[in-house]
This record gives sequence, C-alpha cells and structure tokens, in this order.
Amino acid sequence: MFVREYGGRIRLGTGVKRLVARGGRVTGVETEAGETLPADEVVIGADFAHAMKHLLEPGVSAKYGAEQLKRKRCTSAGIRTRRRRCTPLSLTPSMRMKSGWYLQGGYAGLIGRLEEALRSRGVTIRTGTPVEEVLMLGSRCIGVWAGGEKLAFEHVVLNGDFPGTAALLGEQERGKAPARKYVPSSGCLLLYLGLNRTYPEALVHQFFFTEGIRDMLATVFVKGELPADPCIYAFHPSLIDPALPPGKSVLYVLVPVPSGGGVDWSGREAVVDAVLRSLERRGFPGLRAAVEWMKVRTPEDALAEGLFGGGSFGIAPSLQQSGVFRPQLAPFGIEGLYAVGASVHPGGGVPVVMQGAKQIADHILKKDCTANMHSI
Ligand SMILES: Cc1cc2nc3c(=O)[nH]c(=O)nc-3n(C[C@H](O)[C@H](O)[C@H](O)COP(=O)(O)OP(=O)(O)OC[C@H]3O[C@@H](n4cnc5c(N)ncnc54)[C@H](O)[C@@H]3O)c2cc1C
Repeated sequence: MFVREYGGRIRLGTGVKRLVARGGRVTGVETEAGETLPADEVVIGADFAHAMKHLLEPGVSAKYGAEQLKRKRCTSAGIRTRRRRCTPLSLTPSMRMKSGWYLQGGYAGLIGRLEEALRSRGVTIRTGTPVEEVLMLGSRCIGVWAGGEKLAFEHVVLNGDFPGTAALLGEQERGKAPARKYVPSSGCLLLYLGLNRTYPEALVHQFFFTEGIRDMLATVFVKGELPADPCIYAFHPSLIDPALPPGKSVLYVLVPVPSGGGVDWSGREAVVDAVLRSLERRGFPGLRAAVEWMKVRTPEDALAEGLFGGGSFGIAPSLQQSGVFRPQLAPFGIEGLYAVGASVHPGGGVPVVMQGAKQIADHILKKDCTANMHSI
C-alpha cells in the first residue's frame, strides 16, 4: 500500500462524524469513536455535497440529532498533517467524489497566486500591453511587436482565443495559414450578485434543470434562441469563503445561452428578471430584494473581449474540432511559434488549458535540451 510506504497510517471502518473547524478553517476531524484527529487539510472522499452543507458548519449538532448525523455521516475521508502524511480513515468501494477543492477568493484568486509564483522565479510579466504582431526572420518567429516595442523571444506562445490569432501574423504567413471555419462553443448569460444576506440552506454549487430539458437544449443549441425556462447554475461561495463581512454574500449565476450574434441582448433586463424570479422559486427566496449590486455579462461582452463567437469555452468541443482535429500546439507550422488555450488541443476549461500549457513547456524544454546536446 503506497500510503504506508510514505509513512501514512490507514484506518479502516472508522467513520468521520464531524469536521472540526476553528475561525472558518477546518482543523481536524472527529471520528465516530469520539477521537479528535488534528489535520492541516481534510479531503472529503464521499458524500461531498452533504459534507459541504452540514459537516463544515459550526454548531452542526444543534441542527441534527446524533442519530441523523450518524446516518448522514461522511463515510470516507483522508487527512493530511504538517508532516504531509495521508491517513485515509475509511475506504469505501465506491466513492462518489474523491476530493473537492475551493480556491479562496474564487478562480480570480488563481491569477494573483500564479503571478506571485512566476515573479518569484524571475519571470517578467507585462499587462495591458496587447501583442499587435508576430515578428518573423525568414521562416522563424523571433518575437513580437507589442506596446510600440519590438520584443525578441526564442519562443512565442499565443494565448488569445485561437481563431483570432492568425490576425497577428504578417500578410505572407497569414496567407499560408490553413483557412478553416470554426464553430464557437456555447455562450453564457452571467449574473454576478452582491447580496445583503446569505442563504445557509443553499448548497455551494447548485444546478437547476428544467423539466423539458431536451426542448431547452434544442432551443439553445439548434434554434439558437433564448429558452423560456432555462437551466441555471448557481454558485454561492460565501458559504465556505469567509472573505466578506458577516451577513453579506455573493452569488454567481450562469445560464447557458446561444453564442454568436443571433440573440438581441438589448432587452436583456427582462431575461435577467426572469432568471432572478426563477431562482427565487427554486431556492433563493427574496433574492431580488437582497441584491445590493449586480453585474450582467452576455455573449456580446465575451465577443468584445476577444472570445471567438462570444462562446465561453473556445471553439465547440464537437468531434470535428476535438483531439487531432483541434488546432495543435504548433498550429501554424512556424518555427518558435506555439499556441495554447481553450480553442487549442486538449481543450477548454482552466485545468485543461493548464495541461496544454504544460505540454508546450515540456515540448520547448525537451527541444532546447536536445538542441544543446547536439551542440556539445
Ligand atoms: C462564463 C465562463 C465560465 C467558465 N467557467 C469555468 C469553470 O467553472 N471551470 C473551468 O475550468 N473553466 C471555466 N470556464 C472556461 C475557462 O475560463 C477558459 O476555458 C479558460 O480561461 C481559457 O483559458 P485561455 O488561456 O485559453 O483564455 P483566457 O483565460 O481568455 O486568457 C487569454 C488571455 O489572453 C489575452 N489576450 C488575447 N489577445 C491578446 C493579445 N493580442 N495580446 C495580449 N494579450 C492577449 C486576453 O486578454 C486574456 O487575458 C469558463 C469560461 C467562461 C467564459
């Protein structure tokens, strides 16, 4: 068992009764045997949704009787202490979810952390400086033109949404680039809400499906129209993120809508109001009265920011645009020029884009290493 090899302890048949929290942070677990085990990190291995809703709450025993807690207990968990030892407390044959992580501050918090990590490794970062042109010397990319400056680089990785990046090539290279028509992925209507209350009965992540989901999907993806009764994803991170003052919270609402320019968003207020009313019925009573501020974004905004066709996830993950058919990491066949991002293989979504970035980094390192070996 690799856990033992790494110095970990394994306990079988020891259910976790309660997560012990102090100051909004989990400090350990209490087992059904009444033992408290301290931990720096706790990985929920089963019934994650239940644990997020009930076991993280201080005063959980007031909410549920001991019997209920026993029935609803978390059946599998692993804890990690400062010594980095993993201790699975109970192993179950089928785990609904291995672990769940929440980035403090939401995904936006990742940017600052990555920036810090890169700067600490000596990387120079320039923001607010759009790349206007890729510079070539013969058949090789030698840098970029950005912010009125010529910047020389051995390798250039384009990260704008791929279908628009060919515009950065000179006329000659652009002519050689494969002419291809892409289909954008689905668009999103997004509501960012600041509320003067929280919804402790809600879950952090909630998906509200409509009864006629097939019709809804056909309306959005085939007809390219707004559905009368849309599916809604609601994210209420304030339940686990103590960043806001007590009594305040944020709610993120995502509604799948058609990308492209087929929808007239000038009357978006009515659509937004319908979504808010729907949320009030489906689990957020009194929502409209609780809104302190709201930001709305439509596929039109996404398009204006350079997302292809106003789609949220790069080019659509259809068969003809996936795997080997998706643009690859060196899509223009130009030495020293690469591409990464949602529209490039392996695909969209933050973790997948990061995988693509790693593939490029590995490829460049291997290439450079091989080149150096030849020159010895
Ligand atoms: C509403 C929405 C919800 C999402 N939800 C999730 C989710 O829950 N989980 C998940 O994993 N993914 C989610 N995604 C998808 C995920 O955000 C994207 O797939 C991912 O961010 C794409 O990364 P990227 O690097 O390709 O593009 P981006 O994150 O868009 O980064 C590209 C950057 O390049 C910059 N740029 C473009 N052109 C130039 C230029 N010429 N010069 C300089 N800079 C330039 C842009 O300004 C931008 O900052 C969501 C996306 C949207 C829109």
